[in-house]
Amino acid sequence: KIGWILVGASTVAREWMVDAIGQQGDAEVLAVVSRDAARGAAFAEQFGIAASYTDLDAALAHPGADAVYISTTNELHMAQTLQAARAGKHVLCEKPLALNLDDARRMVDGCAEAGVVLGINHHLRNAASHGKVRELIRAGDIGQPLYGRVLHANNLPQHLRGWRLDAPESGGVTLDMFVHDVDTLRFLLDSEPRHVTACATSGGMTVAGLEEGLMAVIEFDNGTLVQVHDAFNAPHSLSGVEIIGTKGTIFATGVMTQRPVGTISLTREAGSIDIPVEHENLYVRSVRAFQRAMRGEGQPAATGDDGMRALATALAAQQASRSHQRVTLAG
Ligand code: NDP
Repeated sequence: KIGWILVGASTVAREWMVDAIGQQGDAEVLAVVSRDAARGAAFAEQFGIAASYTDLDAALAHPGADAVYISTTNELHMAQTLQAARAGKHVLCEKPLALNLDDARRMVDGCAEAGVVLGINHHLRNAASHGKVRELIRAGDIGQPLYGRVLHANNLPQHLRGWRLDAPESGGVTLDMFVHDVDTLRFLLDSEPRHVTACATSGGMTVAGLEEGLMAVIEFDNGTLVQVHDAFNAPHSLSGVEIIGTKGTIFATGVMTQRPVGTISLTREAGSIDIPVEHENLYVRSVRAFQRAMRGEGQPAATGDDGMRALATALAAQQASRSHQRVTLAG
């Protein structure tokens, strides 16, 4: 069995990842690491995990540990990834990969030098819905993509209204949600973001200056222009992705979510049709692909390079919204 160490007694681990690892059949969570001994012990007890640690090195030395899943707050991802890599453990890290590109580069290089797999838990590219949209685009069903729209304005759940709203290093909605949109669009369009323009709001739910709402336009290498909207403070809004091409339009409704749900329609000259999707838990797929990569079979669903590109675009959007300037990404 593949032995996992959870680094972070977090909500995402609690709600999705313990179960996703458990569902693999050939994996088990051996231990959880928390800065707070009582929180770690309670987490371990709740999920029947044998051990909890406050010290990462001690956890990394746990017998049978092969991989770590890092879901601590963002400023901790870099040091913990490098520590785990140096101990020879494969790393599935949460997004945003890091707070800046130098740190992200160190993580990618550090894992490569240690010979361990680095994967980023950009869950949306694991959704059957997004996989289907990508398939339609690649098959030429809408012709050449010209425009896109991402609707990803949420109401941040009450229990997540902590560091996201007041810690400057959280990066606000830009590093929290927009990174996911970028990763998803790169996956759907097979193209790289080239320029970003953005406007943001802050100070309602977040502390002043930390973005809670973002509207951005991303210009991709292949010429596609995509409008993206993210928000923490938009109750009752719907999510979706629209890709408009020379021959048709795909509209995927309800797909910017952690849950395996949503519908897809394809509209062309002959009219609109519903495209069937066989949904599956996104996080189960993420862990499955990661474990395959650990065994030398392919890559994680999102690689360190993917994480870095999503981060680069998010930082560009942050710069664009703060400076009111269009920002061009390095090639
Ligand atoms: P949480 O706030 O739930 O957890 C982050 C850290 O906060 C934990 O590691 C824990 O520290 C500490 N913490 C947890 N509960 C409490 C508490 N009650 N009181 C005080 N501290 C607490 O964050 P999320 O799970 O929402 O996010 C964690 C990471 O995962 C982030 O990087 C985020 O961007 C990412 N994320 C990714 C998602 C995805 O779908 N890919 C979805 C949601 C988040 P300790 O470990 O020391 O106990």
